[in-house]
Amino acid sequence: MKIICIGRNYLDHAKEMNAPVPKKPMYFLKSDICIHRESQKFYYPEFTKNLHYECELVVKIIRLGKYIDKKFAHKYYSHISLGLDLTARDIQKVCKENGHPWEIAKSFDKSAPISDTWISLDKIDLKNLSFELFQNDTLKQSAKTKEMIFSIDEIISYVSQFMTLKIGDLIFTGTPSGVGPVEIGDVLVGKINGSKMFEFKIH
Ligand code: MG
Repeated sequence: MKIICIGRNYLDHAKEMNAPVPKKPMYFLKSDICIHRESQKFYYPEFTKNLHYECELVVKIIRLGKYIDKKFAHKYYSHISLGLDLTARDIQKVCKENGHPWEIAKSFDKSAPISDTWISLDKIDLKNLSFELFQNDTLKQSAKTKEMIFSIDEIISYVSQFMTLKIGDLIFTGTPSGVGPVEIGDVLVGKINGSKMFEFKIH
């Protein structure tokens, strides 16, 4: 399986990164080795001194598809969850300066912690959904789905022009503003509509 991660999908995050607002969805990949579960221990990687959290809504693909029309994209997912696109910001900065790919900063082991909980979209209004990230009980990120530059349906339609989407693939849909560094001992808690979705401790 693959993990498709959308970059700069919220205006305020593009601004905080001093990055232009994209005209089309921008994505990069993580893989199955990036997944980190709540039952596992997360250890701060030794190769970075500036590991950042990026809290993101996640959808799971449930049908095989290619060239998916936007109006049928909603048939390709049925549940939503919450995860972290962990980023070695110091390494990413060097990649950006040199025009290199980002994988070394984004696609390392356990760089995609994800909740064990999935919410059925029958039970929740995707257009009016909010999510939040707390670091040691302090609110750091807060956003609503309607603030996305590209909707989940637009992302699925766009990405499927280039890559076949397969059952079990995950899409991390981009992070809002408020990204920042984590330290050993931090506890990161993510919520959707006020309900706790995950709690990860950094060891
Ligand atoms: Mg991200």
